[in-house]
Amino acid sequence: MTQTAPQFDFSSTSPTGTISGPAADPQLDIWRELPIAQQPSWHGTEEYEQAVAELGTLPPLVFAGEVDVLRERLAAAAEGRAFLLQGGDCAETFAGATADKISARVKTILQMAVVLTYGASMPVIKMGRMAGQFAKPRSSDSETRDGVTLPAFRGDIVNGYEFTEESRRHNPQRMVKAYHTSAATLNLIRAFTQGGFADLRSVHQWNQGFMANPAHSKYDVLAGEIDRAVNFMSACGADFEALKRTEFFAAHEALLLDYERALTRTDSRTGLPYDTSAHFLWIGERTRQLDGAHVDFLSRVRNPIGVKLGPTTTGDDAIALINKLDPNREPGRLTFITRMGAGNIREKLPAIVEAVQKEGAKVVWVTDPMHGNTVTSQNGYKTRRFDDVMDEVAGFFEVHRALGSVAGGLHVEMTGDDVAECLGGSDPIREDQFDALYESVCDPRLNHMQSLEMAFLVADSLAHQKS
Ligand code: PEP
Ligand code: MN
Repeated sequence: MTQTAPQFDFSSTSPTGTISGPAADPQLDIWRELPIAQQPSWHGTEEYEQAVAELGTLPPLVFAGEVDVLRERLAAAAEGRAFLLQGGDCAETFAGATADKISARVKTILQMAVVLTYGASMPVIKMGRMAGQFAKPRSSDSETRDGVTLPAFRGDIVNGYEFTEESRRHNPQRMVKAYHTSAATLNLIRAFTQGGFADLRSVHQWNQGFMANPAHSKYDVLAGEIDRAVNFMSACGADFEALKRTEFFAAHEALLLDYERALTRTDSRTGLPYDTSAHFLWIGERTRQLDGAHVDFLSRVRNPIGVKLGPTTTGDDAIALINKLDPNREPGRLTFITRMGAGNIREKLPAIVEAVQKEGAKVVWVTDPMHGNTVTSQNGYKTRRFDDVMDEVAGFFEVHRALGSVAGGLHVEMTGDDVAECLGGSDPIREDQFDALYESVCDPRLNHMQSLEMAFLVADSLAHQKS
């Protein structure tokens, strides 16, 4: 039996005002002169100017005070006093922003978090790749089907998935639609997580559905322990009313800098710029060039920042990124999200961790076990094997344990729906289910059951990390 995990104190959350209109600081526009990858071709048009001007008049989606709270939470994760769970779609879509899909995803993240909280005996920071994850980097600018070549799909914030000329046109008005879709998504997330939906007892109850499947009987012991812990708390008169609400943060890849810049506002308390499109922004593997636009822009906003690190990253690259993005070594400011691939992590991660340790810098180490493990199925779908994904997670824990660094979080592409996109799991998904149940417009996601299974497996690793 572990001690009751400390819960975050909501009274410390102090949303504060931001000054209307995009922040005026000219340094926030330096990126415009720098090399920039993965952007749409809509600049210089009246349509573009109008969309950006409209975005500039719209209210912030998140508040500076909330962003500061997240930075404190991440500082705890860097030291092994909290664990970060980031999850959601590879690409959100406008059509997918329905109450059912959003609630299923939030529900699954909360379910995973209960299991992880128990395993880790510490608070789990819950964060969605949600309410803004609309822009996608692509390996090719165009796509050819049956001899017809059109611009590649870059996410609903830029163009449509449908393979027609009109849909694939880069349309800046889509940024305004992305803003409103994000606002509606965030509104529902806030209602769910503050309005009683997050009640620990109901979240625990939902997990009984997963346990009812005989394929998951190997998790009986852990599930039984959690059950007894909840009953124990109840018998002790724990204040379950206080556990009806939970913090939940929004995050996305800060890829489309036109959008991020327009939503960057001056905090009325401090006069400093915050990107109010989300609490947490990360820089993708394809746009983390040290002298590029993305690193420059994100170095200038106060939000906690993540950087994806793929298998070609060197220790020197990591140090240079720290010096640029976190020159003051501020606790919670910088998260490294490693996505090496199961076959690489044990070999490539140690040198990076050792370089950071030598530098005396403290980052949050997070594993993204998805992006280094993408393969094509026999029947032509982009997929990932559950076993490869879990092998990368295991390698991540092994490396951090061996080096005495902290395995601080998990970043996954997942959904609350019963899709078939990733192969395997204890109740295995097979290739022949893809035709009927593959829904992602981008990368394959763990489905509801696979996500919960991952939480049970990671809870076990976390329990061992502590022991
Ligand atoms: C993503 O997170 O969907 C993504 C494109 O990741 P990466 O930048 O790590 O390739
Ligand atoms: Mn992806």
